[in-house]
Amino acid sequence: MNERILISGASVAGLTVAHWLARYGFRPTVVERAPRLRPGGNGVDVRDHAVEVAERMGIMPSIRASATDVRGMKFVDAADRTVARLDMAAATEVEIMRGDLVALLRHATDAGVEYLFHESIRSLVQDDDGVTVTFEHAGSRHFDLVIGADGMHSNVRELAFGPESQFLRYKDHYFAFADADATLGENRWVTMYNQPGRMAGIYRSGNHAQAKAYFIFRSTPLRYDYRDVEQQKHLLGQVFGGDTSWRIKELLAGALADPDFYFDALSQVHMPSWSTGRVALVGDAAWCASPASGTGAELALVGAYRLAGELASAGGDHRVAFARYQEGHRELVNKKQQIGPNVRLMVPKTHGGRWIRDGLARLPILRAMSAVERRLPSKAPRPLSDYVPAR
Ligand SMILES: Cc1cc2nc3c(=O)[nH]c(=O)nc-3n(C[C@H](O)[C@H](O)[C@H](O)COP(=O)(O)OP(=O)(O)OC[C@H]3O[C@@H](n4cnc5c(N)ncnc54)[C@H](O)[C@@H]3O)c2cc1C
Repeated sequence: MNERILISGASVAGLTVAHWLARYGFRPTVVERAPRLRPGGNGVDVRDHAVEVAERMGIMPSIRASATDVRGMKFVDAADRTVARLDMAAATEVEIMRGDLVALLRHATDAGVEYLFHESIRSLVQDDDGVTVTFEHAGSRHFDLVIGADGMHSNVRELAFGPESQFLRYKDHYFAFADADATLGENRWVTMYNQPGRMAGIYRSGNHAQAKAYFIFRSTPLRYDYRDVEQQKHLLGQVFGGDTSWRIKELLAGALADPDFYFDALSQVHMPSWSTGRVALVGDAAWCASPASGTGAELALVGAYRLAGELASAGGDHRVAFARYQEGHRELVNKKQQIGPNVRLMVPKTHGGRWIRDGLARLPILRAMSAVERRLPSKAPRPLSDYVPAR
C-alpha cells in the first residue's frame, strides 16, 4: 500500500526518510531544488536518539571518524584578546560539519532511491488514489504519498498547508554561514566577536582544512527573497560592511565570495498538524527549532526515522502512520523548541549585556557547570521504537 513516495528536499530529513523507506520496501523518489547536495553550514550535533538512528543506518562509525574536534567557544575583543572561554567538549554527542553529515547520509541512501536534482514541485493535487505532482521541468507524475523535507521555507508546506506566514515565528535575528580563511581562526575553537546586537565568528575545527564564518545580527523583519542569494549577501554587507574592527572585513569578504553562502531569519516553525491527507512534513519544514537550538539535525534524523517506521509498521496506511508519527515525535520537538537564552547570550543587545555575559563566562563555577551539563545525557522522553514492517 502507498509504495511510491515523493520526498522534497535532499538534506538531513529527506535523505534519512528516503533511506528508511527504501529499506522497508517502499519506492522513494527525492526531488532537490539545488543541482547537487548543498554542502554548506557549520558543525551540527548528533546526539541521544539520533546516535541510535545513525547506528541503525550503519553510518555512526563514519560520523565519529568525521567528527569535529572543537573544544569550546571563546569571546574576543576588537584586538583579538580572549575575554572569556566556555568548554563545549561533550561525551554524549558527536559534532560533525553539516556538509559531511549530508554526504554520509547520501552515501547510505543510494540503493533503491531515485533522485531528481535541479527540480522542484510546482503543484500538488490530492485525490483518493494518490497525489498528482507537476514538476517545474519534468512534467507530471503520480505518487501515492508526498513528504515535504524541504526546510524552513518548505515548498510542500506552502502548496499543501498554505502560506508560511501562518507557521513561522521570527526570533528577532538573522544569521549567515559561509566559508572563511582558515588562518583567521584558532584551531579547535569557535571564536566570537560582539558589538551591540551583532556577532561575527569563526568556526575552526582542528581536523578540517576549512574554517567557517558566521554572522548573527538583531533586526526587525526584513523584506527579501529567501531564494535570492545575491540579495542576502547585499543585506549582510549592509550590516557588517564598513566595519573594520576585529576580523570582520576579512570574514565578510570571504562570505560574500562563497557560492554556498547560507542566510536566513532565525525563526521557528510551529504547526498544529504535520500532515494533511496524503502529504506529511518532516524536519525543519514541520518544526524548525532554529540553529539557536543546536538540535536541527537530531530532530530531523529521529523524526525521519519515526515517519518511515510508522509507515512501514502500518503497512503503508498513511492515516494511521501520520497520526502515530506526530504522536510519537511531538514531545521531543516541543522540548527542543524551548531555546532559552542562547541567542541573548551569543548576541547581547548592549555593551553592558556583553560585559555581564563575559563576566559570567569567566566564573569557574559556570564554566564547570556548562561542561558538566553537556556531558549529561539528555532525558529522552520515550525509547526509540524498533519498527517491524507489517506484512
Ligand atoms: C546549506 C545549509 C546550511 C545549513 N547550515 C546549518 C548550520 O550551520 N547550523 C545549523 O544549525 N543548521 C544549518 N542548516 C539547517 C539544518 O540543516 C537543519 O536545521 C536540520 O539539519 C534539519 O534539516 P532538514 O533536512 O529538515 O532541512 P534543511 O537542511 O534546511 O534542508 C532542506 C533541503 O530542501 C531543499 N529544498 C528547498 N526548497 C526546495 C524545493 N522547492 N524543492 C526541492 N528541494 C528544496 C534545500 O535545498 C535543502 O537541501 C543548514 C541548512 C542548509 C540547507
